[in-house]
Amino acid sequence: MTSPLRRPLVAGNWKMNTGVEEALELARQVQAGLPDRPPAEVVLLPPLISLWPLRQLLRGDDRIGLGAQNCYWERSGAFTGEVSAAMLRSLCDYVLVGHSERRQLFGETDDQVRLKLDAVLASGLRPIVAVGETLDQRQAGRTDDVIGAQARAAFQGLEPDLAARCTVAYEPIWAIGTGRSASPEDAAGAADAIRRVIDSLHPALARQIRVLYGGSVSAESAADLFAPEAVDGGLVGGASLRAGEFLAVVGAAAPV
Ligand code: PEP
Repeated sequence: MTSPLRRPLVAGNWKMNTGVEEALELARQVQAGLPDRPPAEVVLLPPLISLWPLRQLLRGDDRIGLGAQNCYWERSGAFTGEVSAAMLRSLCDYVLVGHSERRQLFGETDDQVRLKLDAVLASGLRPIVAVGETLDQRQAGRTDDVIGAQARAAFQGLEPDLAARCTVAYEPIWAIGTGRSASPEDAAGAADAIRRVIDSLHPALARQIRVLYGGSVSAESAADLFAPEAVDGGLVGGASLRAGEFLAVVGAAAPV
């Protein structure tokens, strides 16, 4: 279980699922099932169109935060279809940057992820930076190098007070949506590798910054995946679309 220095976080990445009515209903179910004092910070990342309705629904409920799944780095202008971090400021607390689907399907590079991360921080929001290796990279023994390079690109040269506002999500690409999660030992090893990079850049922060695990987290696997001290909760995709299962995953972040 996470260090006492860090509060666990469980974030539900709904991806491109749920229309506004469905999103409201799912959020209502999560709200109804959460205990008064959840064992983890809980964050929902619905599609953009539902951020404002969910903001209204959850107003006054400090158990559930909201996040966006993506943003653009410019503040405003002729960027058809994009939404800036500055625009998200009144809608949510967190922004996910660098999800592997953005990197793989939309060609986002480490440099672009960094631009987004800088924009999120400049807007006073909190980034969740996703890093992860492909199966080929893993089989070639390159996991630590790959995720280390992604973490370095995110944290190098950041002011310490800004770096302290970041959360990292280790999400092995081969585990996302496949039903095959990493082992708790591999998740912990990757979290340690990420913290070594942070330690080399911001020694005072390595033990403060949260590192989540993501990739086929389920009600069954969550307790084991969240058990290592290095892992501070999870970024949950498929299982976050079912309120009961998501609530069980949140429950698994409780200290043992
Ligand atoms: C994700 O996409 O961030 C994710 C972890 O998905 P899943 O839980 O469905 O593997």
